[in-house]
Amino acid sequence: MLIDGELVTGPSSFDVINPATAEVFARCPKADEALLERAVAAAKGALPAWSARSMDDRAALILALADALEERSGEFASLLTREQGKPLDQAGYEIMGSIYTLRAFAQMRIAPRTLRNDNGNSVIEHRTPLGVIAAITPWNFPVILLMNKLAPALLTGNTMIAKPAPTTPLTTLLFGELCQQILPAGVVNILCDQNEMGALITGHPDIAKVAFTGSTATGRKVMASSAGTVKRVTLELGGNDAAIVLDDVDARRVARKVYQGAMTNAGQICVAIKRAYVPAALYEDFCDELVILANAAIVDDGAKQGTTIGPIQNKMQFDKVMALIEDARGRGTILAGGDALDRPGYFIPPTIVRDLDDSAPLVAEEQFGPVLPVLQYTDIDDVIARANNSEYGLGGTVWGKDVDRAMAVAMRIDTGTVWVNQHLAIDPNIPFRGVKQSGLGAELGEAGLLEYTQAHIVNAVALEDA
Ligand code: NAD
Repeated sequence: MLIDGELVTGPSSFDVINPATAEVFARCPKADEALLERAVAAAKGALPAWSARSMDDRAALILALADALEERSGEFASLLTREQGKPLDQAGYEIMGSIYTLRAFAQMRIAPRTLRNDNGNSVIEHRTPLGVIAAITPWNFPVILLMNKLAPALLTGNTMIAKPAPTTPLTTLLFGELCQQILPAGVVNILCDQNEMGALITGHPDIAKVAFTGSTATGRKVMASSAGTVKRVTLELGGNDAAIVLDDVDARRVARKVYQGAMTNAGQICVAIKRAYVPAALYEDFCDELVILANAAIVDDGAKQGTTIGPIQNKMQFDKVMALIEDARGRGTILAGGDALDRPGYFIPPTIVRDLDDSAPLVAEEQFGPVLPVLQYTDIDDVIARANNSEYGLGGTVWGKDVDRAMAVAMRIDTGTVWVNQHLAIDPNIPFRGVKQSGLGAELGEAGLLEYTQAHIVNAVALEDA
């Protein structure tokens, strides 16, 4: 782990499992409360000097982190595949995206705003850092989701504690080596746990903000526990994104896009397509094409060349997805997949399910796995209501040849982002947020950058006017 510029082992350690084999391949150091206290003290101690540097200075160090990550990108990608399971090419995209994110944030600047300058009265709004930020990340994109937090937090003059998910800690620890070489001691500290640190971090009086990505259930706990110290929180939580296919498209072409949107990273993406609504007239063709694609998938160890779908990241998630499939078996028709692979590791092949009711758990809940329910509709108003009938409001897609009509439908989808005729167009310059119970606050873009700052108003007049 990284504390106050030193790489340290903890008082204990735990196993890290390769999901493609279900075997332990590494041990991870584990922090205790005393180490957390040291990390927070280090981050607090580093704050005055770090926040006093110019933004240009801090940006230069963020760029140095990006260069160092690029230099070791192959090593990062293969470690990511081993701990997370995703195919090596997808791991490479995550590392490339992480480098891009660091570089994009390094270009951003915030300047003071003059709100008034008349009659001898000057009112200036400055944006100042919040202090010590805790970044808590999940296991589906352990590297890029950390960069989404680390880059804006550091650029705006905060220091931080990063805590990865217990099943994917190793790439974060490796990134800690880069931080140790490049950043002043204490600016970034990294701790690992097996879910015990959450409450200690979120309740800590010297941590100003928690930037959290994870499930809605844990997000609620983060919010509750942060209340005691009126901490700032950014919550990027779960989703149940609908794809609405309009009736003017080529069903098979769009099915190919929807398949990618549902199955990339074995469906373990917050904004994966988690239910597809297809007009009755296109339904058979659409399902047929999905079945062809699912049957052609190469489900294997992500480290093997050619693998298109890796394992589910951990046993708990594997069991959850299999339970949803078993439940769906009794309610609808499984057209492809449906059975776990009979081999070590947590492999579920792409599974396509039709004829489900919207109340089926596979439709109503977040499956977070390579399973897509395909649902029919006949009336556009009705399907929009069905898409919006969710406690989640993260993303969604609309597919239509008439782009204006598709955009009009997108306007009526109650989520933070809706993509039209594309998917996963996430960009560090475009804010990303969940509405309803999918989140609070924004990540990325200028809005995401401002979330790491607070407004500080200086309102002055000359002494003789006072
Ligand atoms: P999770 O909520 O189980 O864990 C996320 C992190 O929270 C881990 O680091 C975990 O150790 C930590 N944690 C556990 N208990 C805690 C507590 N009481 N207080 C604070 N932190 C605690 O989520 P997961 O299973 O790792 O990730 C999958 C979920 O994340 C899915 O629901 C997915 O949709 C969501 N997700 C959302 C986004 C987004 O940007 N909206 C992105 C990726 C994943």
